[in-house]
Amino acid sequence: MAADPQSDLLRELPAVDALLRDADLVRAQELYGRGLVRVQVRRELDGLRERIRAGDAGSLDEELAAQPRRVVRALEEEFGAPLRRVLNATGILLHTNLGRAPLPRAIARRLPLLLDAYCDLEFDLDSGSRLDRNHRSARLLEALTGAPAALVVNNNAAAMVLVLKAWALGREVVVSRGELVEIGGSFRIPELLESAGVRLVEVGTTNRTTVADYEGAIGPDTALLLKVYPSNYRQSGYVASVTPGDLVELGRRRKVPVLVDEGSGLLRVGPEREQLKGHPSLEQLVAAGCHLACGSGDKLLGGPQAGILVGEEVFVDRCRSHPLYRALRPDRTVLAALEGVLRLHLAGEALPLDRLWPDPESHRRRLEAAAAGLGAEIVTADAFLGGGSAPDRPVSGQVLALPDSAELAAQMRAGTPPVVGYSKGGRMILDLRTVDPEDDASLIAAAAAAQRRIGQARG
Ligand SMILES: *Cc1c(COP(=O)(O)O)cnc(C)c1O
Repeated sequence: MAADPQSDLLRELPAVDALLRDADLVRAQELYGRGLVRVQVRRELDGLRERIRAGDAGSLDEELAAQPRRVVRALEEEFGAPLRRVLNATGILLHTNLGRAPLPRAIARRLPLLLDAYCDLEFDLDSGSRLDRNHRSARLLEALTGAPAALVVNNNAAAMVLVLKAWALGREVVVSRGELVEIGGSFRIPELLESAGVRLVEVGTTNRTTVADYEGAIGPDTALLLKVYPSNYRQSGYVASVTPGDLVELGRRRKVPVLVDEGSGLLRVGPEREQLKGHPSLEQLVAAGCHLACGSGDKLLGGPQAGILVGEEVFVDRCRSHPLYRALRPDRTVLAALEGVLRLHLAGEALPLDRLWPDPESHRRRLEAAAAGLGAEIVTADAFLGGGSAPDRPVSGQVLALPDSAELAAQMRAGTPPVVGYSKGGRMILDLRTVDPEDDASLIAAAAAAQRRIGQARG
């Protein structure tokens, strides 16, 4: 009897257990558990058997090589893909879709030691008594901004809601029409105010608001004067707005507290950077006498998602003792990361943010090494702070340019680790200013592998 090529093929199919030893499937078992992976492997092998019987299968080598990938795809579709480390080569430093500010590596490395055990989050090891979980970050924020008091909540939106609830519930908050902006992701200042249960009193016009406008709106029911620094939007031309100092002067005279939403968590003004001109730091707002000022932890501060509130003691205290604080307080993961980043600020250490303005000589060397590895050209392109910060103030510099964007971009996103760049003028741009230099080798390897896959697909 002649050998039946189909039964030969069927006999050559590996056992389920043999496939489970594939590196990708070993990893999949860590993510989904052995049982689920085994079921999926069996399903894929059954499917392959069907295709062989129907004469629809490709070469056995190719089919078998594709099995692990198909199993992982199916598992990801059913149970969701895991959160993955991504190399951000977009040149947008605070990329909201990629998690905003990356933590400094030194801080991220120390975190696990605090997370897989207990820690003295709310405990004084000297006396054995209870402590406020906020006290470490609060002391550091006070030292860094000069504020008498500070409080940390889950994000800046939460900080604003807490202040509004604690200080203005059912009463009026005066804000300039020029600052009633949408911050992004459908976060709109007027809607936030309304949802917090305060009445919005708009003053001035879209392009001009004066101290007299605020003053004219102050009545017996005025609870707060609010100023917002819409970092994702800037007006130019015939414009006027009131400085925090002028607003504070008015507030003190008329006995109405002033809240400034600084937005980006800029603690102090550091090296002169064109992109940050005209944006006050929390330290400056405190010095100007603002009763309260708030900002984000994961924008220019360079920490985890958090809301930073600084100001005078009575104003911060009432927020801390408000029942809503309980719903907005951060967990120890956030507080541990934030404390670490604040200590770096205190020590004056460099942060990932500073990579946007690299030393030209060492940046050149990085680019040349990567360009040689990838056959890339070095061209000029803009980077941005992002996260809504200074959109109209690019940071010009040198980047890598590769031919052929769309297909290459897809292959890079599919790589290990995924690399995200952007396309411009039919080229794929990789901006190393948003990549940790320690990740350069890994980026070059992943990008080169993506180029090879495209080369192979084209034969
Ligand atoms: C980003 C931003 C917010 C929102 O901060 P989150 O920390 O994301 O809640 C609020 N106000 C301003 C001015 C901002 O720039």
